[in-house]
Amino acid sequence: MPFLSLGLLPTLAQAASALGFTTPTPIQSEAIPAVLTGADVLASAQTGSGKTAAFALPLLQRLQELPAENRHSYGRAIRALIVVPTRELAAQVGDVVRSLAQALPQSPKVVVASGGVSINPQMMALRGGADVLVATPGRLLDLAAQNAVQLATVRLLVLDEADRLLDLGFAEELGKVLTLLPPRRQSLFFSATFPPDVRALAGQMLRDPVNISVASTEIPPADITQRAIRVDTDKRTQLLRHLIKDQGWKRVLVFVATKYAAELVAEKLYKAKIYATAFHGDLSQGARKQVLAEFKDEQWEVVITTDLAARGIDIAKLPVVVNYDLPRSAVDYVHRIGRTGRAGEPGLAISFVTADTEAHFHLIEKRQGLSLPLEEVAGFEPTEVATPIVPQIAADKGGIKGKRPSKKDKLRALAAAQTKPD
Ligand code: AMP
Repeated sequence: MPFLSLGLLPTLAQAASALGFTTPTPIQSEAIPAVLTGADVLASAQTGSGKTAAFALPLLQRLQELPAENRHSYGRAIRALIVVPTRELAAQVGDVVRSLAQALPQSPKVVVASGGVSINPQMMALRGGADVLVATPGRLLDLAAQNAVQLATVRLLVLDEADRLLDLGFAEELGKVLTLLPPRRQSLFFSATFPPDVRALAGQMLRDPVNISVASTEIPPADITQRAIRVDTDKRTQLLRHLIKDQGWKRVLVFVATKYAAELVAEKLYKAKIYATAFHGDLSQGARKQVLAEFKDEQWEVVITTDLAARGIDIAKLPVVVNYDLPRSAVDYVHRIGRTGRAGEPGLAISFVTADTEAHFHLIEKRQGLSLPLEEVAGFEPTEVATPIVPQIAADKGGIKGKRPSKKDKLRALAAAQTKPD
């Protein structure tokens, strides 16, 4: 069994094959032996390339190998902590870890803790500690503040979607989490993207890390066809409706810029007899879970979402992703389109480009080393012209150094101003 040749225990190799993983993916082939040596790892690999098992399998094995002194003697101690940015990802990673862990003779205890639901059952679950805790940063800090969890005994730390966790939005919370961890630990940072500044920061937090970067040429073709369609801002919903019907798409994930837009576009499609619903951060956790489960179950044809769904979420055989609004950055673009074309399946990613977002799209293309033809669809030929960019005059006439919007800022602002759905 090829997983065995990576140094995995036969039980774990069998657990992998029980999930249908017979041959390791490139990131798994590289990361598993590295993690098993006990080294820190900084790994980047394409979205949908099997990263979860790449850290979960060796993590479970390391836990078997490390002395099991702490869990019972410390009451609420955690041995391995996996931090993820979203609740959905917490549930998903928890499921993978649990199914792999079940195969082990003394099945490790795995707890998932994330916000949006009552904290009490999670506190109860953490009684007696856990071998593996999968958590979002905010809920983890709440649990720590209530003494429901002790992190001083963590031997292994995983940051999944590490660049997002090290980014500004999470930096403060993550910083607090890190202060609760012991300095001597094995740390594994995984992500599809590591912008250079984040990579440098991550490098400072790891000890002699093994750097693993599975370049796109080395992985099985994540067969995502990328296309861009030029359309007027107020024709995007009609175009989307037309494409869904004309192309017979049965499952589409559509990204918009705001929660409001998600609701509005979903409603319009629904009225046009397309089974569409919205998925965003204002929904209750129960509703979020239900929408995702029903979408995976093929009960919804279209889910309209914000960047909440851009990362990590694994929807098998999702054939089409549409950027109704363009993402803010090239990194977000990679994560969004990575929802399709998973595990070697073919996928299609279409971006709607308006007169005002065309320049921003070219920036994304440039970052990706892409050059896509801007297509037009018959009946939806655009007539809009770009709004001229009016330079903002800074308070003092010469502008304030460091405060003047760059060309990129202006393009982003313009793209953001465009997000009002038709
Ligand atoms: P991930 O990048 O961990 O979200 O995984 C993406 C998808 O690939 C998931 O649907 C996994 O179940 C699947 N997968 C992971 N590892 C393998 C493997 N070795 N062989 C086949 N499929 C895999």
